[in-house]
Amino acid sequence: MEKQRLLEECQAKASQCKRCVLWETRKNTVFGKGNPEARIVFVGEAPGYNEDIKGVPFCGKAGDVLDELFSSVNFKREDTYITNIIKCRPPNNRDPLEDEIKACIPYFERQLEIIKPAVICCLGRHSLRYFANKFSLKEKGSISVLHGRVMEAGEGLFPSMKIVALYHPAVAVYDPGKISILKKDFQVLQEI
Ligand code: SF4
Repeated sequence: MEKQRLLEECQAKASQCKRCVLWETRKNTVFGKGNPEARIVFVGEAPGYNEDIKGVPFCGKAGDVLDELFSSVNFKREDTYITNIIKCRPPNNRDPLEDEIKACIPYFERQLEIIKPAVICCLGRHSLRYFANKFSLKEKGSISVLHGRVMEAGEGLFPSMKIVALYHPAVAVYDPGKISILKKDFQVLQEI
């Protein structure tokens, strides 16, 4: 209950936030959703069209793919926690800018401090880049090289946390043939 309360406190601040220009075009902040006691957290890049309207992460087509991936490893969405690196939708789904990520990251880091997950899954390249920089990961490379890899966060705030690089589920929306690669990568979650 304490984690839930702390997350709600942080969410209330984010919902009023004007730290970057994205507040001007958002319909809703998309803070995150799931189990505050989750051992595993999934982290996307930024809200898209449907997420912005509903205020819920991964509720559009990419969310459907994510649910299919969860089913493939017998995960329930409600046992996990799902969020994004930034909390407001960039117009026309453009990539988030560096100063927008910098402005928004304290919300995300607070979420991690509260939940203290054992495993973080980076969904897509922006999410992976944040963790690669934050934790100076030994493994180097783009998401196309590192997808499906389990890495150690090392020293720092969460010393024993594992970081898993995964493609963003939207990849399989644009190219349905890629679902088999995503499902194969998700298998590592069962192993850890
Ligand atoms: S994206 Fe983040 S920093 Fe920018 S307005 Fe939204 S909540 Fe604030």
